[in-house]
Amino acid sequence: MSILDRLKDAAGPDGFSQDPAELAPHLEEWRGKYKGHSPLLLKPATTAQVSAILRLCHESGTAVVPQGGNTGLVGGQIPFHGEVVLSTKRLNRIRALDARGATLTVEAGVTLATVQQAAAEAGLLFPLSLASEGSCTIGGNIATNAGGTQVLRYGMTRALVLGLEAVLADGTVLDMARALHKDNTGYDLKQLLIGSEGTLGVVTAATLRLFPRPEVSVTALAAVPSPQAAVTLLGALQARTGGMLSAFELMPRIALDLVIRHIAGTRDLMPAPSPWYVLMEATGGRDANLAASLENGLAEAVTAGLVTDAVVAASQTQAAALWKLRESISEAQKREGASIKHDISVPVAAIPDFLARATPAVLAIAPGARSVGFGHLGDGNLHFNFNSPADGDDTAFLAKWDAVQQCVHDIVKDFGGSISAEHGIGAMKVAALPRYKSHAELDAMRAIKAALDPKNILNPGKTVPPVLKL
Ligand code: FAD
Ligand code: ZN
Repeated sequence: MSILDRLKDAAGPDGFSQDPAELAPHLEEWRGKYKGHSPLLLKPATTAQVSAILRLCHESGTAVVPQGGNTGLVGGQIPFHGEVVLSTKRLNRIRALDARGATLTVEAGVTLATVQQAAAEAGLLFPLSLASEGSCTIGGNIATNAGGTQVLRYGMTRALVLGLEAVLADGTVLDMARALHKDNTGYDLKQLLIGSEGTLGVVTAATLRLFPRPEVSVTALAAVPSPQAAVTLLGALQARTGGMLSAFELMPRIALDLVIRHIAGTRDLMPAPSPWYVLMEATGGRDANLAASLENGLAEAVTAGLVTDAVVAASQTQAAALWKLRESISEAQKREGASIKHDISVPVAAIPDFLARATPAVLAIAPGARSVGFGHLGDGNLHFNFNSPADGDDTAFLAKWDAVQQCVHDIVKDFGGSISAEHGIGAMKVAALPRYKSHAELDAMRAIKAALDPKNILNPGKTVPPVLKL
Protein backbone atom coordinates (compact mmCIF):
# COMPACT_ATOMS: atom_id res chain seq x y z
CA MET A 1 0.00 0.00 0.00
CA SER A 2 1.36 3.45 -0.87
CA ILE A 3 2.10 5.90 1.91
CA LEU A 4 -0.71 8.18 0.71
CA ASP A 5 -3.19 5.29 0.99
CA ARG A 6 -1.92 4.44 4.46
CA LEU A 7 -2.32 8.09 5.50
CA LYS A 8 -5.89 8.10 4.15
CA ASP A 9 -6.64 5.00 6.24
CA ALA A 10 -5.19 6.67 9.33
CA ALA A 11 -7.37 9.75 8.80
CA GLY A 12 -10.59 7.75 8.42
CA PRO A 13 -13.19 7.79 5.61
CA ASP A 14 -14.14 11.50 6.00
CA GLY A 15 -10.64 12.55 6.94
CA PHE A 16 -8.95 13.20 3.61
CA SER A 17 -9.40 14.72 0.17
CA GLN A 18 -7.58 14.66 -3.15
CA ASP A 19 -10.26 16.70 -4.91
CA PRO A 20 -8.44 19.65 -6.53
CA ALA A 21 -11.39 21.96 -5.78
CA GLU A 22 -11.26 21.08 -2.08
CA LEU A 23 -7.47 21.29 -1.93
CA ALA A 24 -7.21 24.64 -3.76
CA PRO A 25 -8.00 26.97 -0.82
CA HIS A 26 -5.44 25.14 1.31
CA LEU A 27 -2.61 25.65 -1.18
CA GLU A 28 -2.70 29.42 -1.49
CA GLU A 29 -3.03 32.14 1.12
CA TRP A 30 -5.64 34.88 0.90
CA ARG A 31 -3.34 37.59 -0.52
CA GLY A 32 -2.13 35.29 -3.31
CA LYS A 33 1.42 35.97 -2.14
CA TYR A 34 2.35 32.32 -1.52
CA LYS A 35 1.19 29.28 -3.48
CA GLY A 36 2.10 25.63 -3.01
CA HIS A 37 1.04 22.16 -4.14
CA SER A 38 0.14 18.94 -2.35
CA PRO A 39 -1.02 15.43 -3.28
CA LEU A 40 -3.23 15.03 -0.19
CA LEU A 41 -5.28 17.00 2.32
CA LEU A 42 -5.69 15.24 5.65
CA LYS A 43 -8.54 16.28 7.98
CA PRO A 44 -8.23 14.24 11.18
CA ALA A 45 -11.08 14.62 13.67
CA THR A 46 -9.33 13.19 16.73
CA THR A 47 -5.98 13.41 18.48
CA ALA A 48 -5.55 9.66 17.94
CA GLN A 49 -5.87 10.18 14.18
CA VAL A 50 -3.29 13.01 14.26
CA SER A 51 -0.99 10.67 16.14
CA ALA A 52 -1.49 7.81 13.65
CA ILE A 53 -0.85 10.20 10.73
CA LEU A 54 2.36 11.61 12.20
CA ARG A 55 3.64 8.14 13.13
CA LEU A 56 3.29 7.13 9.49
CA CYS A 57 4.87 10.37 8.25
CA HIS A 58 7.78 9.83 10.63
CA GLU A 59 8.30 6.19 9.63
CA SER A 60 8.17 6.95 5.92
CA GLY A 61 9.92 10.34 5.99
CA THR A 62 6.84 12.07 4.54
CA ALA A 63 6.83 15.83 5.06
CA VAL A 64 3.67 17.42 6.47
CA VAL A 65 2.49 21.00 6.83
CA PRO A 66 0.05 21.72 9.68
CA GLN A 67 -2.64 24.22 8.78
CA GLY A 68 -5.36 26.00 10.74
CA GLY A 69 -7.32 28.89 9.24
CA ASN A 70 -4.67 29.69 6.60
CA THR A 71 -4.51 33.36 7.66
CA GLY A 72 -0.79 33.37 8.56
CA LEU A 73 1.18 36.22 7.02
CA VAL A 74 4.60 34.57 6.61
CA GLY A 75 3.77 31.52 4.45
CA GLY A 76 4.24 29.00 7.29
CA GLN A 77 1.04 27.12 6.44
CA ILE A 78 1.74 26.64 2.71
CA PRO A 79 3.07 23.31 1.28
CA PHE A 80 5.73 24.75 -1.04
CA HIS A 81 7.38 21.40 -1.79
CA GLY A 82 4.45 19.03 -2.27
CA GLU A 83 4.09 18.19 1.43
CA VAL A 84 0.93 16.57 2.74
CA VAL A 85 -1.35 19.18 4.38
CA LEU A 86 -2.75 18.38 7.83
CA SER A 87 -5.75 20.63 8.38
CA THR A 88 -7.18 20.99 11.89
CA LYS A 89 -10.61 22.03 10.59
CA ARG A 90 -12.35 18.91 12.01
CA LEU A 91 -10.66 19.21 15.42
CA ASN A 92 -13.37 21.66 16.28
CA ARG A 93 -14.94 20.73 19.60
CA ILE A 94 -15.19 22.80 22.74
CA ARG A 95 -14.18 20.22 25.34
CA ALA A 96 -14.84 21.97 28.64
CA LEU A 97 -15.63 25.34 30.13
CA ASP A 98 -14.96 25.94 33.81
CA ALA A 99 -16.57 29.29 34.61
CA ARG A 100 -15.53 29.25 38.28
CA GLY A 101 -11.92 28.48 37.46
CA ALA A 102 -12.09 30.72 34.36
CA THR A 103 -10.65 28.19 31.93
CA LEU A 104 -11.77 26.89 28.55
CA THR A 105 -10.48 23.74 26.87
CA VAL A 106 -10.90 23.70 23.10
CA GLU A 107 -9.55 21.73 20.17
CA ALA A 108 -7.03 23.32 17.85
CA GLY A 109 -9.36 23.94 14.90
CA VAL A 110 -11.88 26.08 16.80
CA THR A 111 -11.84 29.61 15.39
CA LEU A 112 -10.72 32.47 17.60
CA ALA A 113 -14.16 34.12 17.21
CA THR A 114 -15.84 30.94 18.52
CA VAL A 115 -13.45 30.87 21.50
CA GLN A 116 -14.25 34.52 22.26
CA GLN A 117 -17.97 33.79 21.99
CA ALA A 118 -17.82 30.74 24.26
CA ALA A 119 -16.03 32.84 26.87
CA ALA A 120 -18.60 35.66 26.50
CA GLU A 121 -21.51 33.25 26.93
CA ALA A 122 -20.03 32.31 30.32
CA GLY A 123 -19.75 36.02 31.22
CA LEU A 124 -15.96 35.93 30.76
CA LEU A 125 -13.38 37.28 28.32
CA PHE A 126 -10.79 35.64 26.09
CA PRO A 127 -8.79 38.76 25.26
CA LEU A 128 -6.86 37.71 22.14
CA SER A 129 -8.19 39.93 19.36
CA LEU A 130 -7.04 39.92 15.71
CA ALA A 131 -8.62 41.24 12.52
CA SER A 132 -8.51 37.63 11.23
CA GLU A 133 -10.45 36.24 14.22
CA GLY A 134 -13.39 34.97 12.14
CA SER A 135 -11.11 32.56 10.24
CA CYS A 136 -7.93 31.96 12.24
CA THR A 137 -7.88 29.03 14.67
CA ILE A 138 -6.71 28.80 18.24
CA GLY A 139 -4.18 26.17 17.13
CA GLY A 140 -2.77 28.65 14.60
CA ASN A 141 -2.77 31.42 17.21
CA ILE A 142 -0.78 29.17 19.53
CA ALA A 143 1.58 27.98 16.79
CA THR A 144 2.36 31.60 15.84
CA ASN A 145 2.14 33.05 19.37
CA ALA A 146 -0.21 35.67 17.93
CA GLY A 147 -0.34 39.22 19.32
CA GLY A 148 -2.98 41.76 18.30
CA THR A 149 -4.38 44.83 19.99
CA GLN A 150 -4.80 43.74 23.64
CA VAL A 151 -1.23 42.59 24.32
CA LEU A 152 -0.46 45.65 26.44
CA ARG A 153 -2.85 44.41 29.11
CA TYR A 154 -3.09 40.64 28.62
CA GLY A 155 0.15 39.58 26.92
CA MET A 156 0.75 37.53 23.77
CA THR A 157 -0.97 34.18 23.18
CA ARG A 158 1.68 32.44 25.30
CA ALA A 159 0.39 34.31 28.36
CA LEU A 160 -3.14 33.04 27.70
CA VAL A 161 -2.43 29.30 27.48
CA LEU A 162 -2.45 27.26 30.69
CA GLY A 163 -2.20 23.81 29.15
CA LEU A 164 -1.65 22.15 25.80
CA GLU A 165 -2.23 18.84 24.08
CA ALA A 166 0.12 18.22 21.18
CA VAL A 167 1.40 15.43 18.99
CA LEU A 168 5.12 15.22 18.32
CA ALA A 169 6.65 14.35 14.95
CA ASP A 170 6.82 10.61 15.72
CA GLY A 171 3.19 10.44 16.82
CA THR A 172 3.81 10.69 20.57
CA VAL A 173 0.90 12.45 22.28
CA LEU A 174 1.86 15.00 24.94
CA ASP A 175 -1.22 15.39 27.12
CA MET A 176 -0.48 18.60 28.97
CA ALA A 177 -3.93 20.23 28.77
CA ARG A 178 -3.77 21.04 32.47
CA ALA A 179 -5.63 23.99 33.97
CA LEU A 180 -2.74 25.09 36.17
CA HIS A 181 -1.50 28.63 36.69
CA LYS A 182 1.59 27.31 38.39
CA ASP A 183 3.52 24.23 37.34
CA ASN A 184 7.28 24.19 37.81
CA THR A 185 7.86 20.52 37.14
CA GLY A 186 10.84 20.91 34.86
CA TYR A 187 10.96 22.25 31.30
CA ASP A 188 7.79 24.04 30.22
CA LEU A 189 7.21 22.04 27.04
CA LYS A 190 4.01 23.86 26.19
CA GLN A 191 5.89 27.16 25.97
CA LEU A 192 8.40 25.50 23.64
CA LEU A 193 5.56 24.49 21.33
CA ILE A 194 3.89 27.91 21.50
CA GLY A 195 5.34 30.01 18.68
CA SER A 196 7.07 27.01 17.04
CA GLU A 197 5.01 27.50 13.84
CA GLY A 198 4.23 23.84 13.27
CA THR A 199 7.90 22.77 13.27
CA LEU A 200 7.99 20.87 16.59
CA GLY A 201 4.55 19.32 16.92
CA VAL A 202 0.88 19.60 16.01
CA VAL A 203 -1.23 21.32 18.65
CA THR A 204 -4.47 19.38 19.03
CA ALA A 205 -6.10 21.13 22.03
CA ALA A 206 -5.44 23.83 24.59
CA THR A 207 -6.67 24.94 27.99
CA LEU A 208 -7.04 28.70 27.82
CA ARG A 209 -7.07 31.32 30.52
CA LEU A 210 -10.21 33.45 30.71
CA PHE A 211 -10.56 36.85 32.36
CA PRO A 212 -13.34 38.91 33.93
CA ARG A 213 -15.36 40.72 31.28
CA PRO A 214 -14.65 44.42 31.79
CA GLU A 215 -17.85 46.26 32.69
CA VAL A 216 -16.52 49.56 31.43
CA SER A 217 -14.49 50.30 28.35
CA VAL A 218 -13.32 53.83 27.51
CA THR A 219 -11.93 54.55 24.05
CA ALA A 220 -10.20 57.78 23.08
CA LEU A 221 -8.32 59.23 20.13
CA ALA A 222 -5.59 61.75 20.94
CA ALA A 223 -3.74 63.96 18.48
CA VAL A 224 -0.07 64.10 19.47
CA PRO A 225 2.73 66.22 18.01
CA SER A 226 5.33 63.44 17.85
CA PRO A 227 6.06 59.78 18.64
CA GLN A 228 8.11 61.05 21.59
CA ALA A 229 4.99 62.74 22.98
CA ALA A 230 3.08 59.49 22.44
CA VAL A 231 5.61 57.48 24.49
CA THR A 232 5.53 60.04 27.32
CA LEU A 233 1.72 60.01 27.18
CA LEU A 234 1.71 56.21 27.52
CA GLY A 235 3.65 56.40 30.78
CA ALA A 236 1.48 59.22 32.10
CA LEU A 237 -1.80 57.47 31.32
CA GLN A 238 -0.65 54.11 32.67
CA ALA A 239 0.17 55.88 35.93
CA ARG A 240 -3.17 57.75 35.90
CA THR A 241 -5.28 54.65 35.26
CA GLY A 242 -3.24 52.30 37.46
CA GLY A 243 -2.15 50.22 34.45
CA MET A 244 -5.66 49.79 33.06
CA LEU A 245 -4.82 50.65 29.44
CA SER A 246 -5.63 47.69 27.22
CA ALA A 247 -4.61 49.24 23.89
CA PHE A 248 -2.33 52.07 22.83
CA GLU A 249 -2.01 52.29 19.06
CA LEU A 250 0.06 54.84 17.14
CA MET A 251 -1.10 56.13 13.73
CA PRO A 252 0.52 58.70 11.45
CA ARG A 253 -1.67 61.27 9.68
CA ILE A 254 -1.21 59.58 6.30
CA ALA A 255 -2.76 56.37 7.67
CA LEU A 256 -5.89 58.34 8.55
CA ASP A 257 -5.87 60.07 5.14
CA LEU A 258 -5.73 56.69 3.36
CA VAL A 259 -8.51 55.25 5.51
CA ILE A 260 -10.78 58.26 4.94
CA ARG A 261 -10.04 58.13 1.18
CA HIS A 262 -10.68 54.41 0.70
CA ILE A 263 -12.96 53.10 3.45
CA ALA A 264 -16.65 53.97 3.28
CA GLY A 265 -18.20 55.41 6.44
CA THR A 266 -14.98 56.81 7.93
CA ARG A 267 -14.21 60.46 8.57
CA ASP A 268 -11.81 62.70 10.46
CA LEU A 269 -13.15 63.21 13.98
CA MET A 270 -10.97 66.21 14.87
CA PRO A 271 -11.14 69.84 13.74
CA ALA A 272 -7.48 70.14 12.66
CA PRO A 273 -5.00 67.63 11.24
CA SER A 274 -2.15 66.36 13.41
CA PRO A 275 1.05 64.54 12.35
CA TRP A 276 0.38 61.64 14.75
CA TYR A 277 -2.51 60.08 16.66
CA VAL A 278 -2.90 57.56 19.44
CA LEU A 279 -5.96 55.36 19.72
CA MET A 280 -6.28 54.11 23.27
CA GLU A 281 -8.60 52.00 25.34
CA ALA A 282 -8.86 51.52 29.08
CA THR A 283 -11.04 48.81 30.59
CA GLY A 284 -12.07 47.84 34.10
CA GLY A 285 -14.87 47.52 36.63
CA ARG A 286 -17.74 49.99 36.95
CA ASP A 287 -16.50 51.55 40.18
CA ALA A 288 -13.02 52.34 38.88
CA ASN A 289 -14.16 55.60 37.25
CA LEU A 290 -11.89 55.00 34.29
CA ALA A 291 -13.57 57.63 32.12
CA ALA A 292 -12.61 60.33 34.64
CA SER A 293 -9.05 58.97 34.95
CA LEU A 294 -8.56 59.00 31.20
CA GLU A 295 -10.22 62.38 30.67
CA ASN A 296 -8.23 64.01 33.48
CA GLY A 297 -5.04 62.37 32.24
CA LEU A 298 -5.67 63.66 28.73
CA ALA A 299 -6.49 67.16 30.02
CA GLU A 300 -3.20 67.24 31.91
CA ALA A 301 -1.41 66.02 28.81
CA VAL A 302 -2.92 68.91 26.81
CA THR A 303 -1.56 71.34 29.40
CA ALA A 304 1.85 69.65 29.22
CA GLY A 305 1.87 69.91 25.41
CA LEU A 306 1.81 66.14 24.91
CA VAL A 307 -1.64 66.19 23.31
CA THR A 308 -3.09 68.85 21.02
CA ASP A 309 -6.64 67.54 20.87
CA ALA A 310 -8.57 64.47 22.02
CA VAL A 311 -11.96 62.81 21.57
CA VAL A 312 -13.29 60.40 24.17
CA ALA A 313 -15.98 58.13 22.74
CA ALA A 314 -19.36 58.87 24.33
CA SER A 315 -20.99 55.65 23.16
CA GLN A 316 -20.23 52.16 21.85
CA THR A 317 -20.97 53.42 18.35
CA GLN A 318 -18.42 56.21 18.68
CA ALA A 319 -15.86 53.79 20.09
CA ALA A 320 -16.46 51.47 17.14
CA ALA A 321 -15.99 54.42 14.74
CA LEU A 322 -12.63 55.20 16.35
CA TRP A 323 -11.51 51.56 16.18
CA LYS A 324 -12.60 51.39 12.55
CA LEU A 325 -10.02 54.05 11.70
CA ARG A 326 -7.26 51.88 13.17
CA GLU A 327 -8.50 48.54 11.89
CA SER A 328 -8.95 49.76 8.31
CA ILE A 329 -5.34 50.86 7.80
CA SER A 330 -4.13 47.62 6.18
CA GLU A 331 -7.09 47.52 3.81
CA ALA A 332 -6.70 51.21 2.92
CA GLN A 333 -2.98 50.68 2.26
CA LYS A 334 -3.83 47.83 -0.08
CA ARG A 335 -6.37 49.91 -2.03
CA GLU A 336 -3.87 52.73 -2.36
CA GLY A 337 -1.41 50.44 -4.18
CA ALA A 338 1.79 48.54 -3.50
CA SER A 339 3.38 48.53 -0.07
CA ILE A 340 6.51 47.16 1.57
CA LYS A 341 5.76 45.91 5.08
CA HIS A 342 7.64 45.16 8.27
CA ASP A 343 6.52 43.72 11.60
CA ILE A 344 9.22 44.95 13.95
CA SER A 345 9.67 45.60 17.64
CA VAL A 346 12.15 47.66 19.63
CA PRO A 347 12.11 48.65 23.30
CA VAL A 348 9.06 50.92 23.77
CA ALA A 349 11.08 54.01 24.67
CA ALA A 350 13.25 53.56 21.54
CA ILE A 351 10.31 53.89 19.10
CA PRO A 352 10.83 57.66 18.46
CA ASP A 353 14.56 57.24 17.76
CA PHE A 354 13.88 54.19 15.60
CA LEU A 355 11.37 56.17 13.49
CA ALA A 356 13.72 59.13 13.24
CA ARG A 357 16.49 56.92 11.87
CA ALA A 358 14.66 54.30 9.82
CA THR A 359 12.26 56.61 7.96
CA PRO A 360 14.92 58.72 6.16
CA ALA A 361 17.03 55.59 5.58
CA VAL A 362 14.17 54.00 3.63
CA LEU A 363 13.47 57.22 1.72
CA ALA A 364 17.11 57.27 0.63
CA ILE A 365 16.58 53.87 -1.03
CA ALA A 366 13.05 54.50 -2.27
CA PRO A 367 12.64 58.27 -2.79
CA GLY A 368 9.02 59.41 -2.52
CA ALA A 369 7.88 56.27 -0.63
CA ARG A 370 5.11 57.15 1.80
CA SER A 371 5.79 56.12 5.40
CA VAL A 372 2.66 54.57 6.93
CA GLY A 373 4.26 53.08 10.06
CA PHE A 374 1.51 52.34 12.61
CA GLY A 375 0.67 49.88 15.31
CA HIS A 376 1.08 48.65 18.82
CA LEU A 377 3.16 51.42 20.40
CA GLY A 378 2.36 50.11 23.87
CA ASP A 379 4.21 46.89 22.96
CA GLY A 380 7.06 48.57 21.06
CA ASN A 381 5.69 46.85 17.92
CA LEU A 382 5.18 48.78 14.69
CA HIS A 383 3.86 47.66 11.33
CA PHE A 384 6.49 49.87 9.74
CA ASN A 385 4.98 49.97 6.26
CA PHE A 386 5.65 52.09 3.20
CA ASN A 387 3.31 52.74 0.29
CA SER A 388 4.70 53.37 -3.18
CA PRO A 389 5.25 57.04 -4.17
CA ALA A 390 1.95 58.80 -4.97
CA ASP A 391 2.72 59.13 -8.68
CA GLY A 392 5.17 56.23 -8.73
CA ASP A 393 5.51 52.92 -10.47
CA ASP A 394 4.46 50.04 -8.17
CA THR A 395 6.70 47.49 -9.89
CA ALA A 396 9.81 49.64 -9.58
CA PHE A 397 8.94 50.27 -5.92
CA LEU A 398 8.42 46.58 -5.12
CA ALA A 399 11.76 45.74 -6.77
CA LYS A 400 13.31 47.56 -3.82
CA TRP A 401 11.63 45.25 -1.27
CA ASP A 402 14.77 43.34 -0.27
CA ALA A 403 16.97 46.43 -0.02
CA VAL A 404 14.36 48.32 2.02
CA GLN A 405 13.70 45.36 4.29
CA GLN A 406 17.37 44.73 4.97
CA CYS A 407 17.95 48.40 5.73
CA VAL A 408 15.02 48.46 8.19
CA HIS A 409 15.98 45.18 9.82
CA ASP A 410 19.60 46.26 10.24
CA ILE A 411 18.42 49.38 12.08
CA VAL A 412 16.06 47.26 14.18
CA LYS A 413 19.05 45.13 15.16
CA ASP A 414 21.01 48.23 16.20
CA PHE A 415 18.16 49.08 18.58
CA GLY A 416 18.19 45.57 20.08
CA GLY A 417 14.87 44.85 18.38
CA SER A 418 13.16 41.96 16.58
CA ILE A 419 12.50 41.49 12.84
CA SER A 420 9.29 39.62 13.64
CA ALA A 421 7.30 40.94 16.56
CA GLU A 422 4.08 38.98 16.13
CA HIS A 423 3.72 37.33 12.71
CA GLY A 424 6.50 34.74 12.95
CA ILE A 425 9.29 33.62 10.62
CA GLY A 426 7.63 30.94 8.46
CA ALA A 427 8.99 30.86 4.93
CA MET A 428 9.15 34.63 4.54
CA LYS A 429 11.96 35.48 6.94
CA VAL A 430 13.81 32.18 7.36
CA ALA A 431 16.63 33.21 5.01
CA ALA A 432 17.05 36.56 6.75
CA LEU A 433 17.04 35.20 10.30
CA PRO A 434 20.76 34.24 10.53
CA ARG A 435 21.68 37.88 9.95
CA TYR A 436 19.76 38.92 13.06
CA LYS A 437 19.89 36.04 15.54
CA SER A 438 23.11 34.86 17.13
CA HIS A 439 24.84 31.63 16.08
CA ALA A 440 24.36 30.39 19.63
CA GLU A 441 20.58 30.94 19.53
CA LEU A 442 20.24 29.42 16.06
CA ASP A 443 22.27 26.38 17.10
CA ALA A 444 20.06 25.91 20.16
CA MET A 445 16.97 26.11 17.91
CA ARG A 446 18.46 23.54 15.52
CA ALA A 447 19.32 21.20 18.41
CA ILE A 448 15.73 21.34 19.68
CA LYS A 449 14.36 20.76 16.18
CA ALA A 450 16.69 17.78 15.65
CA ALA A 451 15.75 16.28 19.02
CA LEU A 452 11.98 16.53 18.54
CA ASP A 453 11.79 16.03 14.77
CA PRO A 454 14.92 14.09 13.80
CA LYS A 455 13.65 13.30 10.30
CA ASN A 456 12.65 16.93 9.65
CA ILE A 457 9.12 16.04 8.54
CA LEU A 458 7.21 18.83 10.33
CA ASN A 459 7.01 21.97 8.23
CA PRO A 460 10.53 21.49 6.81
CA GLY A 461 12.35 24.60 5.66
CA LYS A 462 10.23 26.94 7.80
CA THR A 463 11.29 28.99 10.84
CA VAL A 464 14.55 27.13 11.58
CA PRO A 465 17.28 28.22 9.15
CA PRO A 466 19.50 25.41 7.84
CA VAL A 467 23.22 25.54 8.52
CA LEU A 468 24.81 27.22 5.52
CA LYS A 469 27.54 25.06 3.99
CA LEU A 470 30.40 27.22 2.78
P1 FAD B 1 -2.36 29.20 9.75
O1 FAD B 1 -2.21 30.38 8.89
O2 FAD B 1 -3.13 28.05 9.17
O3 FAD B 1 -0.92 28.67 10.19
C1 FAD B 1 0.04 29.55 10.69
C2 FAD B 1 1.26 28.74 11.19
O4 FAD B 1 0.89 27.92 12.28
C3 FAD B 1 1.84 27.81 10.16
O5 FAD B 1 3.22 27.71 10.34
C4 FAD B 1 1.18 26.46 10.47
O6 FAD B 1 1.97 25.37 10.06
C5 FAD B 1 1.06 26.54 11.98
N1 FAD B 1 -0.11 25.84 12.56
C6 FAD B 1 -1.42 26.12 12.37
N2 FAD B 1 -2.19 25.33 13.14
C7 FAD B 1 -1.33 24.53 13.83
C8 FAD B 1 -1.51 23.51 14.80
N3 FAD B 1 -2.72 23.14 15.23
N4 FAD B 1 -0.40 22.91 15.31
C9 FAD B 1 0.84 23.27 14.90
N5 FAD B 1 1.06 24.23 13.98
C10 FAD B 1 -0.01 24.85 13.46
N6 FAD B 1 -1.28 38.05 13.66
C11 FAD B 1 -0.96 38.67 14.82
O7 FAD B 1 -0.15 38.15 15.58
N7 FAD B 1 -1.52 39.86 15.17
C12 FAD B 1 -2.43 40.48 14.39
O8 FAD B 1 -2.91 41.54 14.75
C13 FAD B 1 -2.80 39.85 13.17
N8 FAD B 1 -3.72 40.41 12.36
C14 FAD B 1 -4.05 39.80 11.19
C15 FAD B 1 -5.00 40.40 10.38
C16 FAD B 1 -5.38 39.80 9.17
C17 FAD B 1 -6.42 40.46 8.32
C18 FAD B 1 -4.77 38.59 8.79
C19 FAD B 1 -5.15 37.90 7.51
C20 FAD B 1 -3.82 38.00 9.59
C21 FAD B 1 -3.44 38.59 10.80
N9 FAD B 1 -2.50 38.01 11.64
C22 FAD B 1 -2.18 38.61 12.83
C23 FAD B 1 -1.83 36.75 11.27
C24 FAD B 1 -2.63 35.46 11.54
O9 FAD B 1 -4.00 35.67 11.62
C25 FAD B 1 -2.16 34.80 12.80
O10 FAD B 1 -0.82 34.43 12.60
C26 FAD B 1 -2.97 33.56 13.23
O11 FAD B 1 -2.53 33.22 14.52
C27 FAD B 1 -2.82 32.36 12.31
O12 FAD B 1 -3.83 31.40 12.62
P2 FAD B 1 -4.33 30.34 11.52
O13 FAD B 1 -5.25 29.38 12.19
O14 FAD B 1 -4.88 31.01 10.33
O15 FAD B 1 -2.96 29.59 11.17
ZN1 ZN C 1 -0.40 43.84 14.58
